[in-house]
Amino acid sequence: MTTEIPILQIDGIEVLYEHSILAIRNVSLSVKKGQIVVLLGANGAGKSTTLKAASNLVRAERGEVVRGRIVYRGQEVTRSAPHLLAQDGLVQVLEGRHCFGQLTVEENLLAGALAHKVPRRQLLADLESVYAHFPRLKLRRKSLAGYTSGGEQQMIAIGRALMARPQLVLLDEPSMGLAPQIVEEIFEIIRQLNQREGTSFLIAEQNIGLALRYAQYGYVLENGRVVSEGSAGQLATRGDLEDFYLGARAG
Ligand code: ATP
Repeated sequence: MTTEIPILQIDGIEVLYEHSILAIRNVSLSVKKGQIVVLLGANGAGKSTTLKAASNLVRAERGEVVRGRIVYRGQEVTRSAPHLLAQDGLVQVLEGRHCFGQLTVEENLLAGALAHKVPRRQLLADLESVYAHFPRLKLRRKSLAGYTSGGEQQMIAIGRALMARPQLVLLDEPSMGLAPQIVEEIFEIIRQLNQREGTSFLIAEQNIGLALRYAQYGYVLENGRVVSEGSAGQLATRGDLEDFYLGARAG
């Protein structure tokens, strides 16, 4: 259930890579507790940078939030270490479904709990709860992740994030390169997690129609700025959103 309390508040941030490349400018957004929010925009619009600013993974790419602030669950976290944020329930699933190919599906999932010192019994219960959401992964638990399909690898990446018991998941382009049917399956699971466990999501996505069917609210980024926002219903009725992707508004 969505509340009015923000779980994540981004206020006017700027991100600079390598002290010189200004990737996003004055980006502000809010994710309420229990909400699914999407970030829409073309390649290079700044979606990944916005997510990585929130998880503070920009630092791993020589990036820095040089202006503005990020508040998670009421605390300023603009310069907090990513592992501390993860321990506190803010977890990012990077673009490109990163898996450890030489580890089994189950070992990949267990890796998601490493930052948390949880008793074995709880670990197994968490694993079963991930398998309940992703029955496909249970069937393939002993397979090497490197030999699973693209859709299964995306499920592993999300499942691994769930092992950290997240309150907010930052999800970067979950549909990328996947067949429409698998993408629907993944988004249905995201909806289930949101509705049953109250997990909030901030999702970067290029597939506008799909994203707006599952989200409650959306922001449109163009050239590193937020150029539009609204409820998913309002955005879905706009005829010009595709233009942001096709470059029709360039310049
Ligand atoms: P995509 O879907 O292609 O990832 P995006 O909307 O997520 O696009 P970003 O990846 O956030 O966009 O990129 C925003 C801008 O920042 C782009 O101009 C990009 O070239 C630049 N950028 C992104 N990552 C880096 C980096 N590690 N170093 C330098 N510049 C970067």
